[in-house]
Amino acid sequence: MNPIIIIGSGLAGYNTAKELRKLDTATPLLIIANDSSPFYSKPMLSNALTSKKTPEAIALNTPEQMATQLNATVRAHTRVDAIDTAAHTLRIGDETLAYSKLVLALGADQIRLQINGSGADNILTVNDLDDYARFRSTIAGKKRIAIIGAGLIGCEFANDLATGGYGVDIIDIAPQALGRLLPPEGGALLQARLAALGVQWHLGTSVQTVDRAENGYAVKLANGNVLRVDVVLSAVGLKPRTALAAAAGIQVKRGIVANRHLETSAPDVYTLGDCAEIEGLVMPYVMPIMHATRALAQTLAGKRTAVTFPAMPVMVKTPACPTIVSPPATGAAGTWQVEATADGVKSLFIAADGKLLGFALNGTATAERAKLAAQLPPVLA
Ligand SMILES: Cc1cc2nc3c(=O)[nH]c(=O)nc-3n(C[C@H](O)[C@H](O)[C@H](O)COP(=O)(O)OP(=O)(O)OC[C@H]3O[C@@H](n4cnc5c(N)ncnc54)[C@H](O)[C@@H]3O)c2cc1C
Repeated sequence: MNPIIIIGSGLAGYNTAKELRKLDTATPLLIIANDSSPFYSKPMLSNALTSKKTPEAIALNTPEQMATQLNATVRAHTRVDAIDTAAHTLRIGDETLAYSKLVLALGADQIRLQINGSGADNILTVNDLDDYARFRSTIAGKKRIAIIGAGLIGCEFANDLATGGYGVDIIDIAPQALGRLLPPEGGALLQARLAALGVQWHLGTSVQTVDRAENGYAVKLANGNVLRVDVVLSAVGLKPRTALAAAAGIQVKRGIVANRHLETSAPDVYTLGDCAEIEGLVMPYVMPIMHATRALAQTLAGKRTAVTFPAMPVMVKTPACPTIVSPPATGAAGTWQVEATADGVKSLFIAADGKLLGFALNGTATAERAKLAAQLPPVLA
């Protein structure tokens, strides 16, 4: 019998395997990934300094331990080059492997902005544990770091680095932090709290060039300022990895298109995680992955199962200003109602009929998280 093959050893790939093994201990299982394939929790990467975790300590299990635990074969550092959906095979270099069912858990790439300058090639991104190990060794003994992007990952790194004693400059073209997730009042509180830790904000401007300078880099901003830093980290968003699927003729839009059964347009090929667009939704967070793995495992074990997504608030790991967001669905009609105190901002996105469609809570307002989450509509019923 040909194995079930999972491409990807991130939270989506490994957790699908874990859930499958609860239902089916026997079907041959092969996990292939082109990174070093430890089992780890990616969200830990942006608060590892504060939690005093080295890259080695973040890796919870080696690929060998995962293989034993899952009764599976794990092939790390192995890139899948092509898929033949008609033949039910995939290609790795000159090698062809047959699958019974295939799971695409390919993740997403960090978007790289077009930035000129002699130091532009040295701009770092952190999207997996290997990247993080590189980042940690690069910042050792350094003092000042520029972060491009004041979204969730940029703000989390800003908090972590500032707490760890680094000087931080954070740059975003938007006029506020977390502009896609929070109304301005919430952004302002987060900015003030991080500024109190020493974070310098450069909002409403962009990076024009990054040039090598003595002992570091000169980062030139569109507003004319030039920042002198030791390291530049970019965190401007993610792009689902769709190329492998697209080349195989599998339908892709923003992500690899899947229905609520996590089925792609090709027979016996499924997708989930950061690479997937499930019923039109791209949700690059842990909770959607956990819901999807449980449904997909049922399907792989023979019981075709649809995924449902409840409301899934995301905690932004900025302890300087605790923040929890549950943004309204794209295009939802409603208005933000904001109550701000000195220590907290409660922002509720309310429809014309009074129903709560989303929220963003900062500081002391996060205490209301559970009560408000219970009122939210499901993301996918
Ligand atoms: C710094 C950081 C902090 C985060 N914090 C949070 C948080 O607090 N809360 C939250 O909910 N989410 C958070 N996220 C998002 C969350 O971590 C991701 O949604 C999740 O880890 C994605 O898992 P994945 O398995 O889909 O993708 P990945 O972990 O990216 O795994 C993709 C896998 O596919 C493999 N692969 C890709 N292409 C190929 C190929 N052609 N051949 C072989 N292998 C291939 C890769 O090698 C990798 O093993 C954070 C993300 C980052 C980067």
